[in-house]
Amino acid sequence: MPGAIALTFDDLFVGNWHAARPLFDAFGARATFCVCKIHKARPRQIAKLRALQADGHEIAYHSRTHPRLEPYLEKHGLAHWLEHEIDAGVAEHRALGFPAESFASPFHASTPETRAETARRFAVTRAAGPRSLNRADPASRIYHRLDPDRAVDCLGFCDLRHSAFPGWDWQMRLLDLIAETGGTGVFAGHDIRAPGRKSEFFSTPEDLRRLLGAAVDRGLTFVTLREVGRSR
Ligand SMILES: [Zn+2]
Repeated sequence: MPGAIALTFDDLFVGNWHAARPLFDAFGARATFCVCKIHKARPRQIAKLRALQADGHEIAYHSRTHPRLEPYLEKHGLAHWLEHEIDAGVAEHRALGFPAESFASPFHASTPETRAETARRFAVTRAAGPRSLNRADPASRIYHRLDPDRAVDCLGFCDLRHSAFPGWDWQMRLLDLIAETGGTGVFAGHDIRAPGRKSEFFSTPEDLRRLLGAAVDRGLTFVTLREVGRSR
């Protein structure tokens, strides 16, 4: 097996994700868009999510209102979180035609208790973020099979303009390692747009073109988040 990457983009940057469709198509790349607050999405945003899904991208679940997990659990408890932040929003996704088969934890936060519950509901839970990677052991986040909690931690960034992005040399080393080991690495990002706004949670289309090209050059395949859960 040549190895695979799962590129994930969070929140609700639907217009810019939709605008990147030709770029993904040019590399035969499929990505996963992890959507929160779908109850606030406008009809044209829903239509664009449907177009992305029809292209073969995954529309995954990213909570209903994107709360901070720890204070939420302290204040309301696990059952309330599951009812309001998981099950209610999953029902909204499904009513709109999005199967919500995998889950990306907001702020990369999870606990053994939340992971046990999300494992019952989703094929895969995306857990820790790329900033917590032990850079002495990146292979620990290249997956060949899932643990019983069906959780995967992010290997790298696809917010390539974020100040915490370790740089292209490191990114290429990660891709090389995936190709050598034949496993799957998960990358986390948000928006796809030109520079200029305050937030650093984004890549430019040119950044993304470079990343997609580097993956194709190494013979890597593109998988969606739920496909990370399938045995390889
Ligand atoms: Zn988010």
